[in-house]
Amino acid sequence: MRVVRTIEQLREALEYMRQGGHTPIGFVPTMGYLHEGHASLLRRAGEMSSTVVMSIFVNPLQFGPNEDFSSYPRDEQRDLELAEREGADIVFIPGVEEMYPQPIRTQVSVSSLTTQLCGASRPGHFDGVTTVVSKLFNMVQPDYAFFGLKDAQQVAVLRRMVADLNMNVEIVACPIIREGDGLALSSRNVYLSAEERSQALVLSRSLREVRQAMEEGKVRTVEDARKLLVSVISASPLAVIDYAEILTFPGLETLDGASLLSDADGEIIIALAVKFGRTRLIDNNVFNPKEVATLV
Ligand code: AMP
Repeated sequence: MRVVRTIEQLREALEYMRQGGHTPIGFVPTMGYLHEGHASLLRRAGEMSSTVVMSIFVNPLQFGPNEDFSSYPRDEQRDLELAEREGADIVFIPGVEEMYPQPIRTQVSVSSLTTQLCGASRPGHFDGVTTVVSKLFNMVQPDYAFFGLKDAQQVAVLRRMVADLNMNVEIVACPIIREGDGLALSSRNVYLSAEERSQALVLSRSLREVRQAMEEGKVRTVEDARKLLVSVISASPLAVIDYAEILTFPGLETLDGASLLSDADGEIIIALAVKFGRTRLIDNNVFNPKEVATLV
């Protein structure tokens, strides 16, 4: 495994792999503090590619002024051990100076898909994501790029960016990896106190309960599903709901509250963002309601 810190070293390392015929190239962008969710992306990348590139970069552009950029957890040594164990061939760890040597005057911005959910609570966040991912795609020129459905809106936004701008890369969406008790893995879980950690289980539990109520035929409309979601989450005293929404996926369009879930054309997303103290957690479930037998 090669660790590179400059764009020039990265291009050299990639050129060497391409000349050796080690293609296709798979790319896993991350912000580090790696866990089993990131590991699953590396493994998927390894199955589909001959060269696996991972980047570790905490991107200041996608953090708001009052967000956790400076306190975001970092542990390079542990990240490198995980990357090596999971088969990364090249790990790119640029500094902020390398990525942004001068104030950025060019941004990539996807409209419409970025105004709701996390886009509404974190203004400018997705512009930061699409800009840095575009830069990384230009540097790595991967055949495949792997992203977790944990950040489902990010997947929808990046797919649209790639389609709109004819980028020559396939976005591969990978399933959400959870702890045994259901909590979706996140680098930010380390911020949680023991009590918050235990109450945070309400995210995955509310998603499961809504799914179960649908399967039992107890919930059939968008509004009923939303009500149940909110009531389950609100039963946790530390939970402060940022959003609990049901939208089409990947179009992220609102569904009429009174409409039957089964009226949705294709997949829908149940998307949650909930704060516990200073920590904001997200979780979601993407599925086709027509595959839930009791809804049709
Ligand atoms: P991050 O380091 O948080 O920016 O995440 C890097 C990539 O890992 C993104 O594509 C995330 O969606 C993905 N990821 C983070 N957590 C999980 C998880 N629990 N399961 C699957 N993918 C994840």
